[in-house]
Amino acid sequence: MSILAPSKHAAAGGSCTQVAEAFMERVIAQNPGEVEFHQAVGEVVRTVMPVVQANRAYREARILERMVVPDRMITFRVTWVDDRNEVQVNRGYRVQMSAAIGPYKGGLRFHPSVCPSILKFLAFEQVLKNSLTTLPMGGAKGGSDFDPHGRSEGEIMRFCQAFMSELVWHIGPDIDVPAGDIGVGGREIGCLFGQYRKLTRRFNGVLTGKGMAWGGSNLRPEATGYGAVYFAQEMLATRGQDMKGKVATVSGSGNVAQYTVEKLLALGAKPVTLSDSGGTIVDRDGINAEKLAWVMQLKNVRRGRMSEYAEHFKGATFMASRKPWSVPCDLAFPSATQNEIIEQDAQELVKSGCICVAEGANMPSSPEAVEVFQNARILYGPGKAANAGGVSVSGLEMTQNAGCMRRSREEVDQQLKHIMRTIHGNCVQYGRVDGDYVDYLRGANIAGFTKVANAMLEQGIQ
Ligand code: NDP
Repeated sequence: MSILAPSKHAAAGGSCTQVAEAFMERVIAQNPGEVEFHQAVGEVVRTVMPVVQANRAYREARILERMVVPDRMITFRVTWVDDRNEVQVNRGYRVQMSAAIGPYKGGLRFHPSVCPSILKFLAFEQVLKNSLTTLPMGGAKGGSDFDPHGRSEGEIMRFCQAFMSELVWHIGPDIDVPAGDIGVGGREIGCLFGQYRKLTRRFNGVLTGKGMAWGGSNLRPEATGYGAVYFAQEMLATRGQDMKGKVATVSGSGNVAQYTVEKLLALGAKPVTLSDSGGTIVDRDGINAEKLAWVMQLKNVRRGRMSEYAEHFKGATFMASRKPWSVPCDLAFPSATQNEIIEQDAQELVKSGCICVAEGANMPSSPEAVEVFQNARILYGPGKAANAGGVSVSGLEMTQNAGCMRRSREEVDQQLKHIMRTIHGNCVQYGRVDGDYVDYLRGANIAGFTKVANAMLEQGIQ
């Protein structure tokens, strides 16, 4: 059946749950095998369906049906030559999901797991996240199955140049503005921008996360991690608590994890874990500023593995192939990848006394894990709200580029705090259930969805 066919449950006036399940059956049939995409759409559809069912204009214009089909998906071959002079072939993608409220905006991911399902889930989440930021940005995501691990600087550069040689035809400062994500940091954005500039002979704000000397924004590298901590701070404040003295587990050791730890330290919390795909380090004395500086050197310059931390700092232990969630904590910041917290991990977190989970990564908690958090009534901030600080400062970078100006670190930090507070407020407004409990997932989904849906209605049938 077409995804656009009227639901038999809707036609028969079925309950919201039945209508949502029927809708999901069609999404699954139309996107076979794309499990991450089904997961991301399912989580949104189940929370926004009551809003859709209550709004005749949304139903008649088939807003939700349109939102789950990308505007377009671009797939291309990336051919490059490695250091041994051998030809390498990778796949490149850009999923342009929705431009209803602004130009397409979303990161590029270089990781062997990259495939249409992962990029479609990320692009779909990005549409709602960007809507939440209050800034005019549509949603997209892209990347490649290229694995940067173990590649030389020359290989990274040649891959980025080959990738941009095709992507260049699909992006532009008022069309689509990519940024970084897993495997794409300042180094890769530099090589991508250089190639874009050479091919087009244009210097403009086509990418965000640029270097400070060539159009970048203050605080963009810090923004996602800082924003996730600011969001957690807002959530804690609703229960009269703050960060001081709280023990925090953090996963990942890349961009988001590093700046999450930095802001946690600044606010008096005690981060005790970091991880990578090899395992988790546990430092019960706390990862202090000096140790964090060592990690930044290890990961960003030497490109080493977290296991080296336990060899360097006595008292720390390395749990090979393990995640941080069995380590007792007050706060958890999943900052690595999707579905890194499954039901059993969530149960361990709740059992050990964790009171707040703020997602730096995108969709790091499985649906069963989210249910555990919500049933336990702990503070749970979903990625599309908690990690929106990164794209928010990217949005500020776009306005700076358009206006040929620059904001100070302090100004950007103030705006970031303001945006995270506004997102939190919107989640509370739309997410309050059962008296005082705030379902931040529901709040984020409804607040993000409503703005995009109204823009689509106002712009006619597209
Ligand atoms: P980085 O590439 O800088 O770091 C990723 C980290 O996660 C690395 O430590 C990596 O370990 C680990 N990791 C990646 N995949 C896996 C896996 N399958 N299992 C275990 N560990 C893994 O990426 P970012 O810090 O930028 O991104 C982290 C998360 O935050 C992602 O979910 C991303 O989508 C999200 N995000 C990022 C934003 C940004 O501004 N950068 C904005 C919003 C969300 P290893 O090196 O061993 O692979």
